[in-house]
Amino acid sequence: MARVTANLAEVRRRIARAARRRGVCPDKIKLVAVTKNIAPSQIKEAVGAGITDVGENRVQEMLPKLEEVNGKVRWHFVGHLQRNKAKYIVGRVELIQSLDSLQLAQEINRQGSKKGVVQKVLVEVNVSGEESKFGLSPQELPNFLTQLADLKFLSVRGLMTMAPLVDKPGKTRAVFVVLKRLFDQVKEMDIPHAKMELLSMGMTQDFEVAIEEGANMIRLGTAIFRGL
Ligand SMILES: *Cc1c(COP(=O)(O)O)cnc(C)c1O
Repeated sequence: MARVTANLAEVRRRIARAARRRGVCPDKIKLVAVTKNIAPSQIKEAVGAGITDVGENRVQEMLPKLEEVNGKVRWHFVGHLQRNKAKYIVGRVELIQSLDSLQLAQEINRQGSKKGVVQKVLVEVNVSGEESKFGLSPQELPNFLTQLADLKFLSVRGLMTMAPLVDKPGKTRAVFVVLKRLFDQVKEMDIPHAKMELLSMGMTQDFEVAIEEGANMIRLGTAIFRGL
């Protein structure tokens, strides 16, 4: 069995176990394969093994791959998106997971209106407050969402976060707990243009903890392409 296929089988077993600990059906957890630094041939292997969603964090790297790995996959943009690059990906990706400013929202909306497409996005939240990270603070989030009301070509579908790189799993868990609570609070506010359907948290180092704390979308690179 090819490497990626074997890795993916193990990843799916671990997802299923974590989902059961949470008490949710494993197929409710959406898996995005993050393919930065991964060659198109390997991405195709992952697609052959059942991957349906693929994520990249750089526009320049994503564009040629969009051409080469065409067909059945949905693309996700998961990195910091510079405003002047939004035009290259709006309407071509399923989800921009990293909306982190009003100016970017306005630019995505502008490009969407030009192309006649409503772009789905997740709002990135910087729960831990690390300066090196992009994203809104939990405090800013409700007001930020209100400000998006007039952007008809932008559709908020949920939240995304990256946990800090720490050796203490307990700290990571606390970040996920905070984001899940925020997600539930915003959901309860029932903002028409900000649907809370997707909670994207968890990478190779912490996806099981993320699922235990309520993630329904995880983003894995290393686990799939190099192994757990
Ligand atoms: C690289 C990356 C991932 C995947 O990280 P791994 O540790 O390789 O699983 C997930 N999300 C984002 C935003 C990334 O840049």
